Amino acid sequence: MLLVAEPILGEEEKAALADVIDSGWITMGEQVRRFEQAFAHAHGADDSLAVNSCTAGLHLIMLALGIGPGDEVLVPAMTFAATANSVLYVGGTPVFVDIESTDVPLMSIEDAAAKCTERTRAVVLVHYAGYLADRAKWQAFASERGLALVEDAAHAAGLEEAGTFGVAAAFSFYGNKNMTTAEGGAVTAADPKLLEAMKHLRGHGLTHATFQRLPNRNPTYDVTELGYNYRLDELRAALGLVQLAKLKQWNEKRAELTRLYRARLEQECPEVQVPFSQGGTSAHHIMPVLLPKGVKRQAVIEALRDAGVQTTVHYPPVHQFSLYRSRFGEISLPLTEEFSERELTLPLHPSMNEGHVEMVAGALAKALRQELHQEKIDDRCSSPEFV
Ligand SMILES: *Cc1c(COP(=O)(O)O)cnc(C)c1O
Repeated sequence: MLLVAEPILGEEEKAALADVIDSGWITMGEQVRRFEQAFAHAHGADDSLAVNSCTAGLHLIMLALGIGPGDEVLVPAMTFAATANSVLYVGGTPVFVDIESTDVPLMSIEDAAAKCTERTRAVVLVHYAGYLADRAKWQAFASERGLALVEDAAHAAGLEEAGTFGVAAAFSFYGNKNMTTAEGGAVTAADPKLLEAMKHLRGHGLTHATFQRLPNRNPTYDVTELGYNYRLDELRAALGLVQLAKLKQWNEKRAELTRLYRARLEQECPEVQVPFSQGGTSAHHIMPVLLPKGVKRQAVIEALRDAGVQTTVHYPPVHQFSLYRSRFGEISLPLTEEFSERELTLPLHPSMNEGHVEMVAGALAKALRQELHQEKIDDRCSSPEFV
């Protein structure tokens, strides 16, 4: 089965893990610090904070910005639930914004403007599929309204511009992301004071870290605010250092595979719409396509599975989940809903080759021909002379 996403892990990762184990020091040490600095340098930042997930990072950002009850935060619904959940964690209200178009499934700046109120405090951009939002436009949008501009950069690791949009950004190193530490994440911030505030919250709000390598003269500490345990460990940081060194090259491979997909799909199934037709800066995290209107997606998914191709959907819209429906009622985001109904994510990861892309495009074309043929039969059977 050709999987939608697959981590690349090998001898270097094994050796890095073995080194940490042999060192006898597995938390809060040099690996974490080195990883934080290396990750920052790869993203045009002075420093970063390693955390145990992107979700934890988003929570820290909301906490450090002082978002709380009564505050509204603009978020896309075309994202993973964690983006909106992080606003709920601090008692804030996520306000869902529609996408620009089915071609550009990024947050619509017009809809965002329409949804601003005097309670709006921040806006969280998601670089869906790895495609960066328009930096200058969003910076102007946020500064005109006095909003904090935040990036959920889970799809955009390895892009130098990711993390440079606004006050802070969170990245994910979950197993299916462009680089992985199994579980893990990182946060960057424009203001070192904000990063420092998040560092404090990452470790229980203690006045000094629980496990410092250098013996501390004063073994007591104070807890000055309600913090969390969102630390990354040395093993994961060591994995991160190895993966980070290969990230640029892997992202280039993703870009090349995406180019091949676009050409092949255009040839074999031009009725399939490939978003981001104008391209743009991207980390090419996933390969989303839109099936023609009316095609039964489940039948296509099953035909592809029979052909050995795993697919998935990015994303079921967050505003339609039971949790969000029960809290905020029915919300209508027509473009997000259309995109979500027609979207199918094809396999994309750096261990694929041109042959894989051809196989997937061929299997998709075949599945669509069958599906469209079946539809014609269904139509005929329900026409008057058959009833
Ligand atoms: C993966 C992902 C997250 C969550 O990342 P974790 O590291 O698993 O917490 C958040 N937002 C988006 C857009 C993601 O794709």
